[in-house]
Amino acid sequence: MNKEAGQQPETKWKCSQCGEDLQKGTVTVTYLGNEIRVEELKCARCGLVLITEELAMGKMFEVEQSLEDK
Ligand SMILES: [Zn+2]
Repeated sequence: MNKEAGQQPETKWKCSQCGEDLQKGTVTVTYLGNEIRVEELKCARCGLVLITEELAMGKMFEVEQSLEDK
C-alpha cells in the first residue's frame, strides 16, 4: 500500500456542509504550535477543509517526530 494519489481516478468530493464541490488548495494547519502547509481539498463557499484521515495521521506523525528530535 503506497500513497500515489496520481494513480487514482479523480474523485469528486463534495462539501458535507453546503454540497459545493471541493477544490484543491494549500491549507495551513496548526498543530502543537507549528504551522503545517498541506495540499488539501477545500470548499470555496464555506471554507470547510477536508483532511483525509490518512494524510492527517501522516503529517501529524512527522511533526511529532521532528519535535522530539529537538
Ligand atoms: Zn461548503
